[in-house]
Amino acid sequence: MNVTIFGIGYVGLVQAAVLADAGHHVICVDRDKEKVENLKKGVISIYEPGLATIVEENYKADRLIFTTDIKVGVESGDIQFIAVGTPPDEDGSADLKYVLAVADSIANHMTTPKIIINKSTVPVGTADRVSEKIAEVLELRGISLDYHVVSNPEFLKEGSAVEDCQKPERIVIGIDSNSNYVIDAIKELYAPFNYNHDRMMWMDVRSAELTKYAANCMLATKISFMNEMANLAEKLGADIEAVRKGIGSDSRIGYQFIYPGCGYGGSCFPKDVQALIKTADSIGYNAEILKSVDSVNYRQKDKLFEKINKHYDKDLKGKTFAIWGLSFKPNTDDMREAPSRVLMESLWNAGAKVQAFDPEAMEECQRIYGQREDLTLVVNQNSALKGADALIIVTEWQNFKVLDIEYVSKSLKVPLIFDGRNLFSPEKLKNNGIKYYSIGR
Ligand code: NAD
Repeated sequence: MNVTIFGIGYVGLVQAAVLADAGHHVICVDRDKEKVENLKKGVISIYEPGLATIVEENYKADRLIFTTDIKVGVESGDIQFIAVGTPPDEDGSADLKYVLAVADSIANHMTTPKIIINKSTVPVGTADRVSEKIAEVLELRGISLDYHVVSNPEFLKEGSAVEDCQKPERIVIGIDSNSNYVIDAIKELYAPFNYNHDRMMWMDVRSAELTKYAANCMLATKISFMNEMANLAEKLGADIEAVRKGIGSDSRIGYQFIYPGCGYGGSCFPKDVQALIKTADSIGYNAEILKSVDSVNYRQKDKLFEKINKHYDKDLKGKTFAIWGLSFKPNTDDMREAPSRVLMESLWNAGAKVQAFDPEAMEECQRIYGQREDLTLVVNQNSALKGADALIIVTEWQNFKVLDIEYVSKSLKVPLIFDGRNLFSPEKLKNNGIKYYSIGR
């Protein structure tokens, strides 16, 4: 099938590459000229395991094309995906200007019927707005063309995005039309991913739009709930790791997403929780649980700094901290809303310096903060330790999980670790003479 995808970010690029890899012909349109030119040269601006290979292979096979030319994109695909960003507006609600700009572009250039599939995370009612926008422009153009707006929220996880798209747990399709042409086209589009068993879930558009928010808000709730328990455990003299295992063993609760830590980040959970709160406010509903999830997370991102500040009696001037992990979670270079940013900025404000290492997010960190005297990005995790006053672990990358206790102890000025991800046994570190702070223990 001929498919066009607007927006070559984490979602658009991965989806495009995976669809092309399955044999579809995909044109990716982005307004970012540099990104498009880089992709043509094989330079991918994001890190996602397995992505570079399938992008390269399908680009070479001419099944994956990158362009800034809207007209070419609109003319080519019977199916037009919208996968642009929906960042928070000033008040926290989802900013739909990019989504509506794509709707406008499609409407201005379409000359044949189109199926418009929205993959961006958008508030309930957005498909209607996209539809209205297209109708408005077609009327101005004085033409009448058939089009259908479908909601198909994306559930990929950064860090395993390619695999998630290749083997989705579910493919949610929100559709308000019973046109066989649309239904058959969507089935054909996703057939390569639906072979093992039927993963497609058909529902109305509004339910599909809400499903995406409900999923992210549920996951964020699990994390904030656990962080609240961790804070209670700390004050009550309990060990949150024992509690975690104790409740995770209940199949109704499960082990996933109940790790205590230094808060959730990323481009999705914070903005989606806030956007749903705003949607609720706009219809006069007070979303109390969501508001608490958000405020618990906001507070939790300060947790490591609070522990550090307390340890040093609020005197951090001139101290140097080794930081392991900058990305908001392992296996990505994404630092949007990352707890590491809140921590580093607090350390800098208090007059401390940072020596940081991350397996993938160093370039991103440099892009965000530029050159500054109080930030040194080092080549590996061991180099970060040299001469530092303490080690701080912010992201649970796999290669941080085995600690060379001897090396750490001799490299740091004093053997001291602040761990935002509870990677180690407090007893073991204590027995080896390391002062160890973690979360909820
Ligand atoms: P992103 O910021 O990485 O990429 C968005 C891209 O859209 C950018 O390259 C930008 O240049 C491009 N763009 C903006 N306006 C455009 C226009 N008018 N025409 C063409 N291109 C345009 O965003 P992302 O992380 O891929 O997220 C996209 C959407 O998917 C968001 O709504 C997000 O909430 C949702 N989502 C993201 C994830 C994730 O893990 N990142 C997962 C599921 C859903």
